[in-house]
Amino acid sequence: MKNSAAIIPVSSPECQKKSWKHELKNAFSNNRQLLEYLQIDKRAAPYEINESLDFPVRVPLSFAKRMKVGDPLDPLLLQVLANDIENQVVAGYGKDPLLEQGLSQPGLLHKYYGRVLFILSGSCAINCRYCFRRHFPYQTSADSYSNLQNNLDYVSSDTSISEVILSGGDPLLMGDQQLALLVNQLSEIPHVKQLRIHTRMPIVIPSRITEQLIELLAATRLITCLVVHTNHPNEIDDITGTQLQRLVQNGIPVLNQSVLLKDINNNSKTLALLSRRLFSYQILPYYLHLLDPVQGSAHFYESEANALVLIDSLRKSLPGFLVPRLAVERPGEKSKTILA
Ligand code: SF4
Repeated sequence: MKNSAAIIPVSSPECQKKSWKHELKNAFSNNRQLLEYLQIDKRAAPYEINESLDFPVRVPLSFAKRMKVGDPLDPLLLQVLANDIENQVVAGYGKDPLLEQGLSQPGLLHKYYGRVLFILSGSCAINCRYCFRRHFPYQTSADSYSNLQNNLDYVSSDTSISEVILSGGDPLLMGDQQLALLVNQLSEIPHVKQLRIHTRMPIVIPSRITEQLIELLAATRLITCLVVHTNHPNEIDDITGTQLQRLVQNGIPVLNQSVLLKDINNNSKTLALLSRRLFSYQILPYYLHLLDPVQGSAHFYESEANALVLIDSLRKSLPGFLVPRLAVERPGEKSKTILA
């Protein structure tokens, strides 16, 4: 066990009242419900809203509660509201911007040296409109869990693999028991040293950080860290931050990655506040990604030149460790490209 002390409890009465599965099941599943809840007339939305897109609306109540009632330009709402503009065909934007489809084997991506990524689930607790995997053919590529033995064999047979990244969709859609089984199987492969979990789930539904989850991650011999995804400081309310801090206090580092999104976080004041708010719960900023050019997301685009100016401005107002690395992923390259 990495942390020999008992699991440090932190009371979070509101978020533990209902189970995360209940919240997931009852998420808003269309624009109309969400706008009604926020008391916003659909004619006030900045774009023509659309209910018939292939990538449906999905927003749990705990995330919607952090949006401002009556504000059609709320930065959390704009990340999830499905609209007509997503149907526009824009040059340079495609369905598979990182050329991931057909890589490696079903449920597994081996893009970079020493690391493999398990695609454990074909869905998420929230559908972010800019998602680079919004067109990923999860149904035909199958998830790691249904191909588990094949993917564990793949990792076992390649001793250069020292880190396994659980991704998706969102890997924390798996229940704790299933996850515990997988973590145990990975820990039995001697050359696997690190486990990384890429998830937005604890941001969207903070009650997903259960006692059992903390126990299983704290107990494994694998060096484990959680990488969450937050774009705007309003996403981190006290319940969310406190839940994530429980992981840190039990020896599991939490890092954050963000996507640079026009009209949401493309200004230095918002990004600086995000870094400060994350760190007030011991979470460190990791990457700020340029938008991946996925079809349907062009209205979120912010240029590389403006991003560099933003990072420069952050350096002047924050200590270095709170400035995220500006990164872009270019298909076929052996690692992410760090721009600043
Ligand atoms: S949580 Fe991540 S993987 Fe899921 S829809 Fe949002 S950006 Fe995509």
